[in-house]
Amino acid sequence: MMTHEDTNSHKWIISNLLDCMGGKAPKTIITDQSAAMKKEIAETLPDTPHRHCIWHILDKLDARIGNKEEAGEDIRRVIYDSKIEAEFESQWDSTISHHSLQDNEWLTSMFEVRNSWVPVYLNEHFWVGMRSTQRSESINSFLDRYVNSKTTLRNFARCFNLAIARLRKRESDEDYECLCGQSRLISKFNPIEQQFSEVYTNNIFIKFQNEIKALIDSRFTYCERLGNTKVYTIDDGDKEFMVHFNCQDHTYTCECHLFETNGLVCRHALLVYKQENVAHVPAKYILDRWSKCFKRNYLNERVVAVSVRERRETHKNLPLLLYPVFQKLLDYAVLDEDTQQSVVDGLNGLLISISKSKDRRTESGQIGSVVTTESGSHTHHDYGNENEDNSIKDLVKRRKRGRNPVNRKKSILEVKHEQAKKKYTKKNKSSDLKSEKS
Ligand SMILES: [Zn+2]
Repeated sequence: MMTHEDTNSHKWIISNLLDCMGGKAPKTIITDQSAAMKKEIAETLPDTPHRHCIWHILDKLDARIGNKEEAGEDIRRVIYDSKIEAEFESQWDSTISHHSLQDNEWLTSMFEVRNSWVPVYLNEHFWVGMRSTQRSESINSFLDRYVNSKTTLRNFARCFNLAIARLRKRESDEDYECLCGQSRLISKFNPIEQQFSEVYTNNIFIKFQNEIKALIDSRFTYCERLGNTKVYTIDDGDKEFMVHFNCQDHTYTCECHLFETNGLVCRHALLVYKQENVAHVPAKYILDRWSKCFKRNYLNERVVAVSVRERRETHKNLPLLLYPVFQKLLDYAVLDEDTQQSVVDGLNGLLISISKSKDRRTESGQIGSVVTTESGSHTHHDYGNENEDNSIKDLVKRRKRGRNPVNRKKSILEVKHEQAKKKYTKKNKSSDLKSEKS
């Protein structure tokens, strides 16, 4: 949605991103091969690993090598399957020579910048499982359903807010499903699966279960002990990977780097844990970001903020208490407008009452909001009296105005029906007038 993809625009985007994030730089960043973006990121986010979208690069591969099908397959295999940098480099050289592509300038230029897009060079960083800009593309396609090139600036703000509200509603529904039901286990005697099922959201747990399923094809072929470390070689039915397992603290490293890049414990490590009779993985392998109790506070960013672990302990029963109540209210609210208004009025009354009570306690020095600091320490601030501005009633009224942001073409049947309706109304009006005159 940028009008100009130049250095100044990128600078503006990055500085605003940092502002929104309280000055905290992203852990990693993925873009296409925009030279302006690359320069700006290197200058303003020097500590943030930056990779180029692998999909955009490989999409050009076939055309750039003269559509040689076999060569394309071999090059892709080298890119995706290499486990260490030296292996990639030697395999790349031999594949390029084998297909007589040494003089291909595009391949040479891509090899020169290999550390910005070839997976093996980027496996030490956390990419949430992404190698391409797929997430950005899917957000684009989602927003296309709400705005288009003819949307005015005023309408854009309204439609954008509506789109964001839909996303949050979907997330809220998924949170509810995660909290109210536990996923079905697929292994009878794997305590680690049980451990993750209690913590992770349904979507992430399904991904984790794919690793459990893959244990069927996996077996260890070799193991040697080096002090406190055991080195396992695991054959997962496709390739072999080495797992270094620390016998004292039960931590591991695996050549596949699934945990480092995606945040998931891999099938190779699971096999080692099974072999070593480890019933629970160390806490560092359970990421807060995948936890069903990890809730971002969209509504009031000034409130909240204890460490995640502390918050989980303090509020662990809160969602279970509140969700059934709100779900019931929603069920009633959708019945008719009067009931909806009663629910809204009732909730507003509750908000005002709680807020006033907090204000009174704040004035008497009994309570303040708590804001998280990096170190996990707490700082106290006053609550603002914002219940009037953020009333649910206002939001509901605002939503009711205007038509839905649908920009579709009407069908021929609809157009004909409307024309007939207009004609009928016009005819009736004129006959009424005639009868009135007579
Ligand atoms: Zn692995």
